Amino acid sequence: MMPKQVVILGATGSIGCSTLDVVAQHPELYQVLALTGGKRVDVLLQQCIQFRPRFAALTDAADAAELRRQLQQAGVKTEVFSGAQALADLAAHPDADIVMAAIVGAAGLLPTLAAVKAGKTVLLANKEALVMSGELFIRAVQQHGATLLPIDSEHNAIFQCLPATLQQHCYQSQLAGAGIAKILLTGSGGPFRQKPLTEFDLITPEQAVAHPNWSMGKKISVDSATMMNKGLEFIEARWLFNCAVSDIQVVIHPQSIIHSMVQYTDGSVLAQLGNPDMRTPIAHALAFPERIASNVKPLNFFDVPAFTFEAPDYGRYPCLLLAQQACAAGQGATTALNAANEIAVEAFLNRQIRFPEIAALNARVLAHFSASKVAELEEILALDAQARTYSQLLLKDFV
Ligand code: NAD
Ligand code: MG
Repeated sequence: MMPKQVVILGATGSIGCSTLDVVAQHPELYQVLALTGGKRVDVLLQQCIQFRPRFAALTDAADAAELRRQLQQAGVKTEVFSGAQALADLAAHPDADIVMAAIVGAAGLLPTLAAVKAGKTVLLANKEALVMSGELFIRAVQQHGATLLPIDSEHNAIFQCLPATLQQHCYQSQLAGAGIAKILLTGSGGPFRQKPLTEFDLITPEQAVAHPNWSMGKKISVDSATMMNKGLEFIEARWLFNCAVSDIQVVIHPQSIIHSMVQYTDGSVLAQLGNPDMRTPIAHALAFPERIASNVKPLNFFDVPAFTFEAPDYGRYPCLLLAQQACAAGQGATTALNAANEIAVEAFLNRQIRFPEIAALNARVLAHFSASKVAELEEILALDAQARTYSQLLLKDFV
């Protein structure tokens, strides 16, 4: 069989690098067609030298020119592009079989949608795309015959625990019809699960990005600390598995060995377990419905910590509640909340606001836009922009 042609959007990030790690283990199965990065010329250069993709892209023209120059020096023939349109074009390239959507934030929406509209097999890590546009996104998947496979470890775990018949079209089936009572979305609770609330004002970006179990990009690490990540995943699950808000329950499991579960009406609960390493869901989705090695350390049950479970405390994790409220309110609310959160996290990382102010800013922006109605892509993008402007305005109140 010919190797599958893989495009990686966000190749220079945490998920992108883990994807290349798995791809490198199976050169007979996967070939890299294109790699894209935001600003990291040095990382993309090394990746192009190792994987020899036909195409590469960076955000800025000047960075692309620099990469082109260095590749030429290294004797690598990769063709280099720049700009947002290039990302969308590469994602939809006729020779691409699989597109890994691993850009962080709203910037990933358009290229990921381009892959969907070209009917590709889309491996979705970029949860923000679905949070912004879930309804439209899933409709596009159906209309264009794309295949959507979740990379987020929780959603990949849930997917693995679904009946095979449902896996083919989980985003349009009724869970109840398959005997499913509930989706149990697990989360570690992040680094501040036991920190006294009185100390939250003093939390630094360094503390917030140091996740106890997972190594990830900065934005998702801060989201894990506020549990906005679980909130975004709640919205993501709502669209991926066509469920109502009441079908999903968040369960804190600090050890991150169970990656989520599905509870059936007969009393069975199916769980997917493993060491916390994103190469497992990446390998699963790359090879689905087959299985390939990922080089993840096998789970040794004589060696794992005792499993514990807790209900989330909304006083500690207000962002989780905001996301659940936004999910119930609709797509306008989730788009606005996602935009606010991107601005708030960036401001926190730049030491402009304190940790608890991430939730405070999010709450104010959500309250302002909660009733907004959006359906078309242009409306979603316009609301995203409006919510960002409003967030920037509110930021002034916090300094
Ligand atoms: P990261 O910050 O490590 O990498 C992000 C990638 O996106 C980089 O390649 C960066 O260059 C690129 N990028 C950023 N802004 C861009 C822009 N404006 N235009 C084009 N490219 C841009 O992030 P990550 O941790 O790899 O996360 C990527 C996505 O996967 C996020 O949506 C995250 O929520 C999701 N995810 C990550 C993990 C994980 O373990 N890291 C787990 C589950 C889900
Ligand atoms: Mg996750």
